[in-house]
Amino acid sequence: MHGINGAETKNDIKSMTKSELTASFAELGLPKFRANQVYDWLHAKGADSFDEMSNISKDMRAALLQNYYIYNVTVEKKLISAYDGTIKYLFRLDDGEYIESVVMSYHHGYTICISTQAGCRMGCRFCATGMGGLARNLRPAEMLSQITVAQRDNNIRISNIVLMGMGEPLDNFDNVMRFLELVSDTEGVGIGMRHISLSTCGLVDRIYQLIEMKPQFTLSVSLHAPNDALRGEMMPINNKWNVEQLLTACRRYAEATHRRISFEYSLIKGKNDTEQCALELAGKLKGMLCHVNLIPVNTVKGNSYERSSPKQIQKFINILESRGITATVRRTLGADINASCGQLRRKKKEESDGDLQQN
Ligand code: SAH
Ligand code: SF4
Repeated sequence: MHGINGAETKNDIKSMTKSELTASFAELGLPKFRANQVYDWLHAKGADSFDEMSNISKDMRAALLQNYYIYNVTVEKKLISAYDGTIKYLFRLDDGEYIESVVMSYHHGYTICISTQAGCRMGCRFCATGMGGLARNLRPAEMLSQITVAQRDNNIRISNIVLMGMGEPLDNFDNVMRFLELVSDTEGVGIGMRHISLSTCGLVDRIYQLIEMKPQFTLSVSLHAPNDALRGEMMPINNKWNVEQLLTACRRYAEATHRRISFEYSLIKGKNDTEQCALELAGKLKGMLCHVNLIPVNTVKGNSYERSSPKQIQKFINILESRGITATVRRTLGADINASCGQLRRKKKEESDGDLQQN
């Protein structure tokens, strides 16, 4: 890992709430209106340096630079799909780690899929990110920066966020909660909770913690299989919290928040796409306020999982719907640019590991 020039001793200014920033400025003898100005630059305008802050004097900018550090992401690679305009970023973090984000265009506006960790320690067998393990958690500033950089770079306003990129958001709980607070602040990026979805592989203790907080975002749960034998084989987390424990937590969540849970189910040929699986799934979700999002699995180097056929996918949906469970198939976007997360970072890592071996 590369060190970040002096950042260790400075405050992470873009991860601070407005009231924290105001209090911190007061300690330096700076008035509240200065805190408001700087907060506006960092969050509403997406500034990534103090130099840009044209209404702050040069001397004050120098003082800020001494005390604070702005964590950013920088564009290492940008790919644009020729099919549908989906944009995929490989971002570099200040310590040399890499993460990915994807910007998708829908009729209702732009949605960004952001990363919450560099890597992931959950080890799901079908996932490119999981194969490399966890490097580190992202700071709130680094999650925000994926959005502010993408907005500036494309001159767009993003209206929706999904936490479905690299990493398990509930494994980086405090930073993700702080990020959600910051990003939804109307004086900052201003994307409301109802336009945000958080996806988890099923950290049951954290789901109970969320219930207490009565969140307004959409919770997506990566289920992928209706029973422990199958799910345990695909997702190691199932050995800690099984399907029954997970679905009990989901029921409680839906009851307490009155919000529909979205279950992700990646269809893998001959594994979890059988009629038996569809029937079992329908039985277990019966009566729950939920929706099933079917995703044809993306083939990843390093495993042998293949996509289900369109015919099998339709059969699966028909079974769910005939039993009163609403289901949709997720549109595949950016198929030509490897839009599913984890693959670009892996390639980059392989290249730099290759460089190291050559030296
Ligand atoms: N860690 C969180 C969020 C990031 S993964 C989670 O697991 O929910 C986002 C979604 O992509 C999850 O539903 C995950 O199961 C799914 N996913 C990962 N690899 C995939 C692949 N190769 N094909 C299809 N979906 C995949
Ligand atoms: Fe982590 Fe989600 Fe990938 Fe599983 S699917 S390894 S939880 S990023």
